[in-house]
Amino acid sequence: MASRTYRAEAIVLKVHDFGEADRVLTMLTRHFGKVRVVAKGIRRPLARLAGHAEPLTHASYQLVRGRNLDILTGAETRAHYPALRRSLVGVAGGWYVAELADRFSAEGVPTAPVFDLLETALSHLDAGHDPGLVCRWFDIHLLDRTGFRPQVMRCVSCSGALVAGDNAWSPEAGGALCPDCVVRAGTSHAALSLRALKSLRYLLASDFGAAALLRIDAPLAGELERHLRSFLHQVLDRDIVTARLLDEIARLRPVSA
Ligand SMILES: [Zn+2]
Repeated sequence: MASRTYRAEAIVLKVHDFGEADRVLTMLTRHFGKVRVVAKGIRRPLARLAGHAEPLTHASYQLVRGRNLDILTGAETRAHYPALRRSLVGVAGGWYVAELADRFSAEGVPTAPVFDLLETALSHLDAGHDPGLVCRWFDIHLLDRTGFRPQVMRCVSCSGALVAGDNAWSPEAGGALCPDCVVRAGTSHAALSLRALKSLRYLLASDFGAAALLRIDAPLAGELERHLRSFLHQVLDRDIVTARLLDEIARLRPVSA
């Protein structure tokens, strides 16, 4: 009979309280995809594993197969991202990437590329990088790694070259549209500036180290956010709940921040 105990490297995406003192953790594991596990008695004072069962914790977990949910029996934390937790916009960025990782993964379907991307994004948020840049880099690479890469190299409709002009962004079509195809489509599309197009290409081709060299002012940051958010919305067919939280925080912060 196979052992009922196994270990899994995972990041906790979200938690919800269950029963009198238990908590159900939704985790993204490196090797087994998304799993939901129960942490029994975790809400009692002095619970041994309490510090390992918070959202945005990266740990090696010991789990026992249960009839419905697997059961958490041990953990060694690898990263708790303390600096990220000290900043409102940092923790909101963490929740945002965790929500997207949750939406783009399925229970029991291995998805190591998404795990690696999430781990990279959380470490860079913790290191103090601009949450907007980390989130945009995460958005476009998540789309790429899950089979939804936006077409930014050529016009998505006619495959013509994209040059300076009235290009547009069409999540419905799957990426950038040239001015001729915008006219032909006859419907209104969001304008795509040349520098936003170049930034999308650069982000897609870059690891985070290279992406961090990109200089993005507030109008460009806003345009990239609108385009990637509308694309994610098209793919997911629903709103990203934590994006609204990020919007509210942005309204609280001075423009220069
Ligand atoms: Zn075209």
